[in-house]
Amino acid sequence: SAKERGKRRCVRYAQDMDARAVENARLSAELRQAPARGELFLLYQPVVTLPDGELSGVEALVRWRHPERGLVSPAEFIPVAERTGMIVDIGTWVLGEACRQMAAWQREYGPQAPAKMSVNVSARQLLEPAFAQTVAGALREHGLRPSDLLLEITETAVFDGGLALETVKAVQALGVPIALDDFGTGHSSLGLLRTCPVDVLKVDKLFVDGVTGDTEQAAIATSLAHIAQALRLRAVAEGVETPDQAERLYQLGYRLAQGYHFAPPLSPDNIERILQTRTANPGPESWEPSALA
Ligand code: C2E
Ligand code: MG
Ligand code: MG
Ligand code: MG
Repeated sequence: SAKERGKRRCVRYAQDMDARAVENARLSAELRQAPARGELFLLYQPVVTLPDGELSGVEALVRWRHPERGLVSPAEFIPVAERTGMIVDIGTWVLGEACRQMAAWQREYGPQAPAKMSVNVSARQLLEPAFAQTVAGALREHGLRPSDLLLEITETAVFDGGLALETVKAVQALGVPIALDDFGTGHSSLGLLRTCPVDVLKVDKLFVDGVTGDTEQAAIATSLAHIAQALRLRAVAEGVETPDQAERLYQLGYRLAQGYHFAPPLSPDNIERILQTRTANPGPESWEPSALA
């Protein structure tokens, strides 16, 4: 009967839910062990200057090499880590490892080293009152200057105000610059740029995708370039995949970009290959706010 069919469907549905809950629980139990087991590692995606495509900085992007599952993408495990609070420990590991790598590159390559190391920070980490101390500790341990680092946070993380905003201000007080990541996709409020003055806007791939056409995204990419210029912030165009996009973004005033067109996230070895072959190019200056035109 229809009633029995319905019941069977419910049972199947409940079994699926159970399976998913079990799977999630297993994933999070395994994730908890991952840092200690050395299963996490970082790739580094170049951030380049336009129009020359020279490496200016790098963004650290975490990866999980699971013994059976293979490579698990952050899109899968970062949400789990955020829900369970494990992101706090993972984030501390990421920060320490990124700082260690940056210091090693500075020692070995001097002015050829990347000018900035970007590290992603979750909203959940900003709720930790000790976060700024963690950052200060990592800088001290590895002998880095605050300006060697760039912390990427999302608009949504600070939009709720309160504790997260306090933490951001404490980090800024250390002299560490802040970027708003995926800018334009969150609960954007331009007022946020007043309550929480940041240093860099990372304009989301969504707007870069449409930048060569006569699209709303193109209009927004244009406006964001103007806003960045008016507020004397650096704008980084994310997810640049074609030479046409790079060219157009340059015309619009973008001087920093990131995306597969230039380089995907790379192993430290592959970053070093770039550092070894490139000629000295303007480092930290290229990240400072541009003089008002
Ligand atoms: P995100 O911070 O916005 O990083 C950019 C993402 O876009 C990266 O994905 C990068 O590989 C990808 N990407 C770069 N260029 C292109 C392109 O031209 N085309 C396309 N289609 N994609 C491009 P990934 O590494 O998978 O990271 C995804 C997200 O996971 C990051 O987005 C960030 O929100 C989060 N994440 C990664 N590492 C960390 C971390 O250490 N801590 C925290 N809290 N979040 C992280
Ligand atoms: Mg990012
Ligand atoms: Mg981003
Ligand atoms: Mg993103």
